[in-house]
Amino acid sequence: MSRTSIQSVKRLVVKVGTSSLILPNGKINLRAIDQMAFTLTTLNNQGYEVILVSSGAIGAGLHQLGLDKRPTTISRQQAVAAIGQSELIKIYNQRFQYYNQTSAQVLLTRDVVDYPESRKNVINTIQELLEMKVIPIINENDSVAVDELDHLTKFGDNDQLSAIVAHLSDADLLIMLSDIDGFYSANPNTDKNATLYHRITDITDSLEAAAGGEGSRFGTGGMSSKLKAAKRIFARDSQMILANGEEPSIIFDILEGQTIGTLFASSTYTEGD
Ligand code: GLU
Repeated sequence: MSRTSIQSVKRLVVKVGTSSLILPNGKINLRAIDQMAFTLTTLNNQGYEVILVSSGAIGAGLHQLGLDKRPTTISRQQAVAAIGQSELIKIYNQRFQYYNQTSAQVLLTRDVVDYPESRKNVINTIQELLEMKVIPIINENDSVAVDELDHLTKFGDNDQLSAIVAHLSDADLLIMLSDIDGFYSANPNTDKNATLYHRITDITDSLEAAAGGEGSRFGTGGMSSKLKAAKRIFARDSQMILANGEEPSIIFDILEGQTIGTLFASSTYTEGD
């Protein structure tokens, strides 16, 4: 694909995580969902092609059921996700409809995008929705996806899913909204000398060390998984921005070219082109 700087982006994938959609007390963050619907609708009206990858199925399901923690069994978690996904999409649809915007739900499993025939169908569906100016809201189909030995149905996490969706849709930019301002040299919660990287052109061993390895987290968004997603983005020479999703309207500032969060783009991208 050709190298596109931020100002000339046309098709973008926005990924939002559970921590931005569910309040610390477990209730749904209606303000965030409403602001997301407003922001993405405005961008769609301005001529951008917008795809949303949203987590929050399990969080919304826990809220519906009045539970304060995840059930322990996989089957119960999958049932909670089934309850929460429909609740989540109901709220998204309501907010998008308020702005006169049609949205659509697309639930994916890993095997669907790995199998060439069904992969083509996913690509075609996304393409058709975008042509109709409908905003796809994509999540993993948590109610059926499990890790099986000979049949891979899980993406791992929604960071990977969003990078894969950016690939399938040939998006110019992935905006990953998290509960942290970007990628830091060290954990900013514990190290006061931690500095925010504004630009990363390559995933080096020292960055992976700064991410803290598997399972280590700055905030609730795992940094290792952000780097893994960024590697997928670099592999197709595209670009990704990791930024704080507390105010989804930050997407407007990002698309104006303001220096926000961490831009992952190879050195062949020149800023301000
Ligand atoms: N698909 C999960 C959910 O909607 C979230 C997975 C993730 O955020 O990595 O609850």
